[in-house]
Amino acid sequence: MVKETGYYDMLGVKPNASAEELKKAYRKLALKFHPDKNPTEGEKFKQISQAYEVLSDAKKREVYDRGGEKAIKEGGTGGGGGFGSPMDIFDMFFGGGGRMHRERRGKNVVHQLTVSLEDLYNGATRKLAVQKNVICDRCEGRGGRKGAVEPCLSCRGSGVQVRLQQLGPGLVQQVSSVCSGCHGQGQRISQRDRCKTCAGRKITRQKNILEVHIDKGMRDGQKIVFNGEGDQEPGLEPGDIVIVLDQKAHPVYTREGESLIMNMELQLVEALCGFQKPVQTLDNRTLLITSHPGELIRPGDRKCVMNEGMPMHRRPFEKGRLIILFSVVFPRENFLPATRLKELESFLPRMEASDDSDSMEDDLYIYADLEDYDPARDRRRFHAMEDEDYHAGGGVQCHTS
Ligand SMILES: [Zn+2]
Ligand SMILES: [Zn+2]
Repeated sequence: MVKETGYYDMLGVKPNASAEELKKAYRKLALKFHPDKNPTEGEKFKQISQAYEVLSDAKKREVYDRGGEKAIKEGGTGGGGGFGSPMDIFDMFFGGGGRMHRERRGKNVVHQLTVSLEDLYNGATRKLAVQKNVICDRCEGRGGRKGAVEPCLSCRGSGVQVRLQQLGPGLVQQVSSVCSGCHGQGQRISQRDRCKTCAGRKITRQKNILEVHIDKGMRDGQKIVFNGEGDQEPGLEPGDIVIVLDQKAHPVYTREGESLIMNMELQLVEALCGFQKPVQTLDNRTLLITSHPGELIRPGDRKCVMNEGMPMHRRPFEKGRLIILFSVVFPRENFLPATRLKELESFLPRMEASDDSDSMEDDLYIYADLEDYDPARDRRRFHAMEDEDYHAGGGVQCHTS
């Protein structure tokens, strides 16, 4: 039992949330409340970061679960209390390419791109309009004509103004503040020498169209990095543009790793006597799900179709499994007159098979064989996946341990 749930509530997850669920919750909220997108929500952005910082660290999470926020603030983690800056946590989470020497680089720009499960299955290309800061062409980032830049007179180029403040008789305090004349830049360009294009700001906003290639098998939360396409600033290497994929929920399929999961409702007669049901795949083929003769489906049974799951990223010809979770609908009460119920006691009548399939041409179907679902079967392959970033959550899947 956890002592308090504040941090979990902040991220909108349950206290038993998996690392993957925490990541996803943080990703969505951090992008939503980032000061770039939501300048008035700085406090919320900070709280989200702190909650994530604690819960994403197994040790700190344990301390929090046992002692609550108080224990964290008292620094019971051995590593001392205090939180990292929300921006650092954000940059670490969304950082492009894993480059760590960020001091001499401009800001990364993170965008969320909503995609459908079909996009991730089939691959897709999206055009995305993004705004970024670029160094002004006209003045080449100087802010004015050559030689027009001179040290700021108010601060003599230091960017800081120092004032003496009289506190009382014989008592004087030195107060320093960012120079108001140059906004801390230490230099100024006289009004008439200023670049007309950027008004002396050295950078301009530019709209760019990015072509984002979504590969088959990519997943929710995956990052696509455009190196050096982020904001430019004079004297700095440009940052990256980081596109984060955000998959919309699909009405039929849920994805778990490389598996696709769907629910299928059977009438009692189908469960007892066999069935054929068409299923639309994500690339618009029709699978005719067919039970084996004599096979009986119980409510809650799980079956799977091999090679009809998600394509593997970078190995798109290999696919996971389609897992079908069955439910069975019983007939309404009194569906038979009492006299005929007697007959049911001795045998179950085979009703007319649903003839959905008869009205369609045979060659429209791909006959799909149902196989027994064995969770152990794909485990080895799952563990061999190179992408260490990915860990499946709980629930129904082919690779629980
Ligand atoms: Zn300019
Ligand atoms: Zn100044």
